[in-house]
Amino acid sequence: MPKNVANNHFDLIIIGGGLAGASLACALRDSTLKIALVEAHQLNTDSQPSYDDRTVALSYGSRCIFDGLGLWSSLAPYAEAINNIHISDRGHFGVTRLSKEQEGVEALGYVLENRNIGLQLYAVINDSPNIHLFCPAQLKTLQQDTQQVSVEIVTDSHEDGKRQKLNAKLLVAADGNNSQVMKLLAIGSSRKSYNQVALISNVTPGNKHNNVAYERFTDTGPLALLPMLQNRCSLVWTLDPEQADYLYSLDEADFLQQLQQRFGYRLGQFKKTGKRQLYPLFLQSATQMVQGRVALIGNAAHSVHPVAGQGFNLALRDIALLCELIVDSLPRPLPRPLPKPQQKSPADSSINSAVDIGAQTLLQRYARLREDDIRRVYGFTDTLVKTFSNNITALAHLRALGLFLVDVLPDIKHQLAAQNMGRSGHLSRLNRGLPL
Ligand SMILES: Cc1cc2nc3c(=O)[nH]c(=O)nc-3n(C[C@H](O)[C@H](O)[C@H](O)COP(=O)(O)OP(=O)(O)OC[C@H]3O[C@@H](n4cnc5c(N)ncnc54)[C@H](O)[C@@H]3O)c2cc1C
Repeated sequence: MPKNVANNHFDLIIIGGGLAGASLACALRDSTLKIALVEAHQLNTDSQPSYDDRTVALSYGSRCIFDGLGLWSSLAPYAEAINNIHISDRGHFGVTRLSKEQEGVEALGYVLENRNIGLQLYAVINDSPNIHLFCPAQLKTLQQDTQQVSVEIVTDSHEDGKRQKLNAKLLVAADGNNSQVMKLLAIGSSRKSYNQVALISNVTPGNKHNNVAYERFTDTGPLALLPMLQNRCSLVWTLDPEQADYLYSLDEADFLQQLQQRFGYRLGQFKKTGKRQLYPLFLQSATQMVQGRVALIGNAAHSVHPVAGQGFNLALRDIALLCELIVDSLPRPLPRPLPKPQQKSPADSSINSAVDIGAQTLLQRYARLREDDIRRVYGFTDTLVKTFSNNITALAHLRALGLFLVDVLPDIKHQLAAQNMGRSGHLSRLNRGLPL
């Protein structure tokens, strides 16, 4: 339940406190904005869909964003660095290797468990006087006019729970790919199913992973093994639905044998696997990033195939830009709250009545500046899936040649690395390693 909310006027309402929504709230914790964060599922419950057993590969650009927000120091103890990326095609000669030395960075990326990211973000949220958390709470209705956006939420997991009204200048939809905000505003989306399922699990290899991330294209689909702490590897294996069900049903020894057969022995003999989970894969794109006083971020705006680990990284770039535009619209210099009061701020005291953070010019600029990056990531992941998810012999030779060429041609290789590291296209201040 929210602490000491004297009334229900806010500057910003965020619907969805998953990876994207919670990151946005944390990003604005030092601003003068009064923020409502509405999340349907409590942290550390099995039903929480964002902070589950998955891992995310954070690009170097995303680390810069968290750094600029002063959040990286609390995430770093849970992060394993990716120093090299090894991309190969099972049964074919082509291999591409990317390394942190060639790219001149501390690491190409980092692997973190979603659950740990959630725990760190919620520790910050609970410690921030200007963020009012409504959890468990569900969005029910939404109206907007030229002055404000108003929502009705139910602050209980039951339908007959307590109803509350909240209003603000700006509402951000961070409620994932089944977004209730989009439904209430009749924002459409295009959706392309890949007829593929991602099987995820954590596995323990016989050899040290040496901070190498492996992306291997196999006859059953792309298979990624990413380095984790305690010498574990995070497996993301793309499969057709029947194969996924079959592999899911196997006992541990048979499953590891199948994995070994597809991946080979670069990591020695696989010893152990954790819980396996299945996720259907699709490409989804909202037809508009903003409508009136509402802006979309994260999976609500775009869901991509996890083949190149781009989804949350893309969301962080939405957040970095939106925060930059919001903060630039506020009076400068940005006053930091001194000292932090024990209670949440009283009614209206931190409402920036003179500033309109939901102004059309601001939101349209956000939508326009995000277009290129999102389009590029759609194209990049979609091409990877199409090229590497079939067994036509001619195509297999072509992609082997492609991998070989990328390995020997430094320009193409740097472009591939830049895309993987989230450092291509329009870069916000945070993405360039500067503070907000
Ligand atoms: C198998 C797999 C592997 C992946 N690997 C990577 C990777 O390596 N790197 C990477 O960058 N990305 C990866 N991704 C993508 C990443 O998981 C998503 O981009 C990320 O989860 C998006 O976060 P989100 O907060 O936008 O949405 P979600 O995670 O879907 O969170 C939405 C939140 O909104 C809440 N909510 C929903 N409806 C309501 C409502 N009506 N009222 C209140 N709250 C509501 C939900 O409870 C949830 O907490 C992967 C995805 C998959 C499926």
